[in-house]
Amino acid sequence: MLMAGNKRYVDGNTISHDHMATRGQLIGFQKPFATIIRCSDSRTSPEIIFDQGHGDLFVCAVAGNVPTTELVASMEYSVAVLKTPLIVVMGHSNCGAVSEALKNFNDIDSLPGSLPSLISQIRPAASQAGGEFGEEALSEAIRCNVRNGMERIRTTSSIIDAAVESGDLRIIGGVYDMQSGRFEVL
Ligand SMILES: [Zn+2]
Repeated sequence: MLMAGNKRYVDGNTISHDHMATRGQLIGFQKPFATIIRCSDSRTSPEIIFDQGHGDLFVCAVAGNVPTTELVASMEYSVAVLKTPLIVVMGHSNCGAVSEALKNFNDIDSLPGSLPSLISQIRPAASQAGGEFGEEALSEAIRCNVRNGMERIRTTSSIIDAAVESGDLRIIGGVYDMQSGRFEVL
């Protein structure tokens, strides 16, 4: 359903969603079919990219799409209570957060505000990509960051890991390309 929706989005054939009708229908319950962990970037809204409507996706967002403790807790709710059968870790091309992890690879603590806490969680992917900023390294770090996220979700959450083990849940990852509009599964 996600990939079919992404194809509609890429081709410019998106469905006309009746948000007013679904808003009324969904007052008392929600039954999203997928949980998405995405970057906060304004150009990466999964409802638009996958051409979905109200109530279809349970979305967890943070810059750099890293599964922080709070996001893992949110995903545990979607898996244990809402029973979504799929988690998608969604990276995207030209990600500013991953870019910062590469640019400040040796000096993350000098970043302003609370950024060191977040960007340091992307540093392992920056390291896997060579630790130096460049176009190729950025693409590789974005992919590594998705794979690391997929692994980290399972290793930090026994609830989610048990759901995967029992066959009730799948975790996949991919990268959204802003140029083509395509979401490519890794
Ligand atoms: Zn981003």
